Amino acid sequence: MAATGLEKQGADENAKAFYVSTPIYYVNDAPHLGHAYTTVAGDVLTRWHRQRGEKVWYLTGTDEHGQKIMRTAEANDVTPQEWCDKLVTEAWKPLWEHLNIANDDFIRTTEKRHTDRVQEFVQDLYDKGEIYKGGYEGPYCVGCEEYKLPGDLIEAEDGTKLCPVHKKPVEILKEENYFFKLSEYGPKLLEFYEANPGFIQPESARNEVVNFVKQGLEDLSISRSTFDWGVPVPWDEKHVIYVWIDALLNYATAVGYNENPEKFDETFPANVHLIGKDILRFHAVIWPAMLMAQGLPVPGKVAANGWLMVGGEKMSKSNLTGIKPQDLTSHFGVDAYRWYFLRAITFGQDGSFSWEDFSARYTSELANDYGNLASRVAAMVGKYFGGELPAATPTATRSRRSTRAWRRPSRRPTGRSARSWTSRAASWRSSTS
Ligand SMILES: [Zn+2]
Repeated sequence: MAATGLEKQGADENAKAFYVSTPIYYVNDAPHLGHAYTTVAGDVLTRWHRQRGEKVWYLTGTDEHGQKIMRTAEANDVTPQEWCDKLVTEAWKPLWEHLNIANDDFIRTTEKRHTDRVQEFVQDLYDKGEIYKGGYEGPYCVGCEEYKLPGDLIEAEDGTKLCPVHKKPVEILKEENYFFKLSEYGPKLLEFYEANPGFIQPESARNEVVNFVKQGLEDLSISRSTFDWGVPVPWDEKHVIYVWIDALLNYATAVGYNENPEKFDETFPANVHLIGKDILRFHAVIWPAMLMAQGLPVPGKVAANGWLMVGGEKMSKSNLTGIKPQDLTSHFGVDAYRWYFLRAITFGQDGSFSWEDFSARYTSELANDYGNLASRVAAMVGKYFGGELPAATPTATRSRRSTRAWRRPSRRPTGRSARSWTSRAASWRSSTS
């Protein structure tokens, strides 16, 4: 983990930290470009706040429980814990180091500092009457670790019902479970969305969530008894806590929930939860409802990024288009990699990635534009300041007139290259609307 130096900045000791999280990533496989996209975005956001002298907390980590991981481990002939340890130490942590991610913490949901607090949180809700025992039967996608509503499923050519995200058959699961009274929070959530129009971004994501909640919420099954790779329900150890309840709580347990009140107060809740849009409902519906039930403050913002598309398909390991970030950094370098994805994709929208586009922008924007700027500045420093970069002057705000005098109208790109950039930007927009 890169040092971020809360201590080395002059931020007000008592101020609340600007707290940003990535999703904790599911370690059923190695990271691909999609995971790296969100993590780099959070790194850029937090570096910007840190540079302004603000207190910052940037959290990432891994989600290690659930049936999908248990099955992956079985298929690889190791225990689930061995599987997680291997993936975290050989794939996930090294990638964030490689990409210069300055996270302040890395939480793993199999750590005791997390599992103990998850049990306390759920026990508390149970004691408050927010959780009850019931039965449930419905279509379940192991890939999503989620019961699907029948209306959400898509149909294969032979009539098989498929998960709309994974395009894989769902299983019919029947369980005796514990339920969280999510249905009671619909009106409170709608009131909250109304009072906080910026809570869910982008607008399309907000509309989707508001429409979903307006249809009425069902109570949420928060335990599983058909497998045991999870945090045991404290009052009934035949059950483990639903992996999503376990996972969402990382945002609280990592910053001192029920353990370090001082740290918790100066960090929680997150200012921004960065997520992929496929996990929007968990973060914008279930998570705030859990916090409301517990009397805790809800996050400032849930910002959903779109999908990275390769050849018109969402990129993931399961549809075989997953690309390792290292495949690109070995050619373009880490800084260019970080720059490219934030430059090329409008945050919040789907964006297509291609080697050709990366290559073209690398040459046109990094080498030609920025390279040219750097070379001119270096030449002027040589010519007018004897090769020594003068100290920055304290006048941060210059008059508009002097700014204008520096602008050279003839430098505006013209001709073929400028047009091709415009048309590329336009085609991206049309392909994502
Ligand atoms: Zn699925």
